[in-house]
Amino acid sequence: MSGVTRDFDRAVVLGGAGFVGSHLCDALLDTGTAVVCVDNFCTGRQENIAHLDEEPRFELVHHDVTDPLPELGPVDVIFHLASAASPVAYHRLPIETLRAGSLGTEHGLQLAERYGARFVLASTSEVYGDPEQHPQNEDYVGHVNPIGPRSVYDEAKRFAEAMTFGYARQRGVSVGVARIFNTYGPRMQPDDGRMVPAFITQALADQPCSVTGNGCQTRSICYVSDTVAGVLSLARSSEAGPINIGNPVELTVNEIASLVAEIIGSDAGIRHIAAVVDDPQRRCPDISRAVQRLDWRPLVQLEEGLKQTIAWFAEREPNHL
Ligand code: NAD
Repeated sequence: MSGVTRDFDRAVVLGGAGFVGSHLCDALLDTGTAVVCVDNFCTGRQENIAHLDEEPRFELVHHDVTDPLPELGPVDVIFHLASAASPVAYHRLPIETLRAGSLGTEHGLQLAERYGARFVLASTSEVYGDPEQHPQNEDYVGHVNPIGPRSVYDEAKRFAEAMTFGYARQRGVSVGVARIFNTYGPRMQPDDGRMVPAFITQALADQPCSVTGNGCQTRSICYVSDTVAGVLSLARSSEAGPINIGNPVELTVNEIASLVAEIIGSDAGIRHIAAVVDDPQRRCPDISRAVQRLDWRPLVQLEEGLKQTIAWFAEREPNHL
């Protein structure tokens, strides 16, 4: 393992009220780091961070990261997660998504430069597009349609990576790029179109899980505590990456839907609906770089992670389902 282990006094989490961001805020606070969460709530929810209202080391700044950041004071690490992330969200906010990846990334990097802080970008497996190589390692440069329906997200992240490496090379900012693969867990939104919350919501209502296409396309899904641990390991190292953070266990979408229905005890089965344009047929990370350089690997088994996620959804008020 290369890289130096660091501890942080004060972190800024751009997009900290979102699904992954709110778990990251929790994990940072748990390890004694004060957290400034910057969010405009375009896809995040107050409810995700409501439990931190009385936490003196937690500060919420309601701000759009595409505008220059306000004075936030000295900070030693900045995590940039502020971006619509689900297809439903980035189709609703296409230009905002491009701006969050471009302007938002530069504003985060400028803050890092000002305070000599480390900058960690939440990039995505979507930079690989519809990959022609399996599993994808970080040297694969991708197969992306620059004007396809997913391009506002994919190209925003590709630009964000380029901007991040630009600040590292030209301005000497310490950076880390995490290419996060599909993550699931509590605090996902039931209606954001992502597979796991959709299947859980449907199976809890005893409706069939709607699987796009023939369901033979594969996904590898990583429980949120594992993803957050990977992002934190990258932050604490001096690795620039990019580094894949994901779970390499590859399953078909049919298999994931069936497992959700089985855990919930729904016998409504699966319903096949129209395939999605540009939907990747296979998605599986090669995480050998993360294992080697960060000594990180996912620990939560799929069945266990799904049980925890299902329990969280089942506890919500019916109007949240
Ligand atoms: P999310 O939508 O739940 O969280 C994103 C947060 O960013 C939200 O709170 C939103 O309000 C905020 N935000 C968006 N644009 C903003 C802006 N202009 N200014 C301020 N705040 C803004 O999404 P998530 O699933 O938690 O994803 C978090 C990050 O991780 C994203 O950058 C996403 O691209 C990346 N990622 C997530 C996954 C996944 O499976 N969840 C996979 C790969 C990458």
